Parts: sequence; structure tokens; C-alpha cells
Amino acid sequence: MALTAALSSSIVGVTAGLILVPGDPGYDACRRVFNAGIDRRPAAIWRCRSTEDVQRAIVAAQELGLPPTIRGGGHNVAGLAVSDGGLMIDLSRMREVHVDPVAFTVSVEGGCTWATVDSATVNYGAAVPGGTVSSTGVGGLTLGGGVGWLAGCAGLSCDYLIGADLVTADAQHRFVDLRADPDLLWALRGGGGNFGVVTRFHFNMFDVPAIVSGSIRLTLRELPLAIATLERVAPQIPDSLTCSLTLISDKLSDKYVSIDFACAAANTSHAIDVAAWFWSHFKQQPLPQLDFGYLKTQAMLDPAFVEPRRCYWRSCYINELSNDFSAALVDAFAECTSPSSVIILEHLHGAYSREPIGGAAFSQREHSFNLAIAAQWTSGAEDEVHKAWCKRTHNALTQFSCGSAYVNYVIPDQDVTSRQMYHEDSLARLRTVKTRVDPSNLFRANHNILPLSNLNSEASR
Ligand SMILES: Cc1cc2nc3c(=O)[nH]c(=O)nc-3n(C[C@H](O)[C@H](O)[C@H](O)COP(=O)(O)OP(=O)(O)OC[C@H]3O[C@@H](n4cnc5c(N)ncnc54)[C@H](O)[C@@H]3O)c2cc1C
Repeated sequence: MALTAALSSSIVGVTAGLILVPGDPGYDACRRVFNAGIDRRPAAIWRCRSTEDVQRAIVAAQELGLPPTIRGGGHNVAGLAVSDGGLMIDLSRMREVHVDPVAFTVSVEGGCTWATVDSATVNYGAAVPGGTVSSTGVGGLTLGGGVGWLAGCAGLSCDYLIGADLVTADAQHRFVDLRADPDLLWALRGGGGNFGVVTRFHFNMFDVPAIVSGSIRLTLRELPLAIATLERVAPQIPDSLTCSLTLISDKLSDKYVSIDFACAAANTSHAIDVAAWFWSHFKQQPLPQLDFGYLKTQAMLDPAFVEPRRCYWRSCYINELSNDFSAALVDAFAECTSPSSVIILEHLHGAYSREPIGGAAFSQREHSFNLAIAAQWTSGAEDEVHKAWCKRTHNALTQFSCGSAYVNYVIPDQDVTSRQMYHEDSLARLRTVKTRVDPSNLFRANHNILPLSNLNSEASR
């Protein structure tokens, strides 16, 4: 009560229900995030409905000394959206999407998930490249990069970001684009939630005339051959096809490999031809029924990530799929402790490797594969068993990595430094922008880019 009063007195016109504190109806539902293993209790949750609400929340956070966290889609596995004792800026009521078919752009409020955006843009035969699971938030995914089914032909989500309505640490609303602030736009394309709260993202759209998707199911015994084939075929895969290889289980005794792919092309028959070419490398039988349409593709992996589950991830980039790597992968998955856990190997190529006009802070474009070890389970009593498997697997596979990792897949527990997520020149530029817009590091519940002043007092990470 006292906190609500303090929060209310720091602003004008607070509506009942806008701020939740422990004990309020809805508080527990609101502090929940994708990872059911995260059980943090913020001092207050500000359920923002507008940019002005976000500005007020930041004023309150500053005045009351409550470190803010930002909740976009709530999918960050480390639970960066919520902290014990902080102020959660909850954007889940801000989900408006507006398509401009003439400019071929779309504006998206900061709390949207990709499912909402995709269903709005698909009517125009268009898309913003999103992630591979439709319930993921646009906010965190875009600000960290954004790798999905259109990565090969269209690139990353952040490459399509042409503008942002941003509330910075001084509670000011800034419109950021290439003309108004090219450095800040560059930083938002991969630098994470370090620079403020994006209340609205403005994206260019990508023309998606035809898309087909499918899965190639193989036994675990076939994995070494599948990995060798993927390594051999990878340089010939056209930009139009994006694929990933997943180790997955129906139950612990029934583990298998799924090679999932999506192919976007000028027309359906061309897309099917490319899919058939890819398929023929892995299977003798003719190409089976494919799925047609972007929304089906975007939901292809959804069943593997059903909420609520407890999760723990480790990840790294891999540049070469050697025989030793595939042997280590087989051994690691043979010891998998939960039927819900998966290991995903995403192929990176094509437009993913090319920077957009104006550049992007996302700087890991030279890698060929992104490996994610995603442990998932339901019972809190089993936390240590499944986390230990994930860590063991990462330790066994990390020798094949080039040492760097994708910011959106990293959890703080993995202890990856900023230097492993950003190239040196990008990191230096990110720090300069951070120092300009958030010198006191108000926004630090993220993969933190330290302002230059903090660098002198803390170890340089
Ligand atoms: C099941 C699953 C599937 C995934 N698939 C993919 C994938 O295919 N490709 C991929 O690239 N990543 C993927 N990810 C990783 C995902 O990109 C990150 O977890 C990302 O942080 C999620 O964004 P969010 O908005 O849902 O997260 P949240 O937990 O809400 O936010 C995480 C952080 O992002 C920042 N943030 C979020 N919204 C805003 C905003 N509006 N303004 C400023 N900062 C903001 C904040 O720093 C916040 O702490 C996946 C994650 C999960 C759990």
C-alpha cells in the first residue's frame, strides 16, 4: 500500500490497476515469465498502456531508487524481464500493430509477440523476419538480433528496424531513426535493452510471395551421416532456404533428429523445387506433403516450446561440423535427462551474413551454425539434474566452438563476456552510445553494456 501511494504521488492521474504490488490481484500472474523456474517478486509492476505511462514509470523508478526491468514478450530464459525488489515495466498491454501497405512498413508496440505481427503482415504478403517460435516477444528478440525462418533470404529482425519510439533514462521520449540519431538506431539493432524502453518499433517489411516448410525425421543413429551431409551441402544451400537440425525426443527412450526447413521464393513451385533439392540429400523417398504459408512456418516449432516449463540454456557458435563434433553430440544427447530438452543447430548464411544500410550493432555475422542446448522440464525438484546435463553438454561441445555466442541465447550463468558477443569495434561504439543515453546505467537488467564511466571502476568485460 505504502509503495503504491509513493508511486502514485510521483505521478499525475494513475488509474487503479495500473500499478500492482505484492498481494494485489493479478500481481502473481503478471510477474510470471516464459521460464517457469523464474520466481522473482518485483516491488511493483507498472502495467503500461502508452509511451506516457512508460515515461512516468521511469520517473518513479528514478525517484524511488527501484531498478527497472522491461517485460516485452517475457521469453528471455534468464528472466531478465523481472527482478526481486525492482520495478517491472510491463509492456504486455501494448500490442498494437499498424501496417502501412504503401510505405511497406509496419509499426509494432513494444509488448507484441511475433504471432500478432505475423498475422497482421501476412494479409499483405509481407513479413518482418521474426523468430522460430511465434510466442516470443518482438522487443527482446529484435533488440538482440533476431534469427528466424527468413534469416537466409531476408536477414535478421534487427536489420528491418528503421525507427523506434524510445523512452530513455531521463524519461524523455525520443524518435530514433537513421536521420535523427544514426548511432542510436545502429545500437538498437543488436545492442539489447541497454538504451531505454522501446514503446514502438518501426520496421521495413519483406515481400513473402510463397513459403513452404517441412521436417525431415531421422533416427539418432542417422545423426552422424546427417551432420556430415549438412556440412557438405551447407555451402550450396540457396539463400531462399533456411534450416535447423534439432535433437528431440517423444520420450526419453525415443530420441530422434528433426531437420526443419523453410523455403521462401517468388512462387510456390520454385519453393517446392528448392525444398525437394534439399530433401533429396537426406532421404531416398520422394518429398512428402509440405506445409504452405507463412503462419504455419512461424508456428512449426511451437509444440517443442510449450509453456509452462522450467528452462536452462547454453549456447555457442560452431563453424565446422566435424566427425568429432557429431560423435560428441550423439554422446551428449544419449545422456539427456528430460524428454522435453532439445539441442538445436541453426544454419546461418545468406542475408543473415549481410549488414543492413546504416549497419547494426549485431556483429556475429561470420558464423555458420548456432548451437543452442535447451533443457526443459516441469518439476522444481529436478532443477539440478537437468541444469547439470545442459552444462555437461555445453562443456563437451564448447571445444568445437569458436568462442563466441549469440546474445539472445546467452544466460548470465554461462558467464559469456560482451567481447564474446560483440566485435571489439562494435563494443566500443555501443559503450559510447550507452554513455550518452544512459550514463548512470539505469537499464542494466540485460546483457549489460557498461557506460564508459563504469568501465573504470569495474572489470572490463
Ligand atoms: C521458446 C523460445 C524460442 C526462441 N526462439 C528464438 C529465435 O528463433 N530466434 C531468436 O533470435 N531468439 C529466440 N529466442 C530468444 C529470444 O530472442 C530472447 O529470449 C529474447 O530476449 C526474448 O524477447 P522477449 O521480449 O520475449 O523477452 P523479455 O523477457 O520480455 O525481455 C528480455 C529483455 O529484452 C529487453 N526488452 C524486451 N522488450 C523491450 C522493449 N520493448 N524495449 C526495450 N527493451 C526490451 C529487455 O532488456 C528485457 O530484459 C527464443 C526464446 C525462447 C524462450
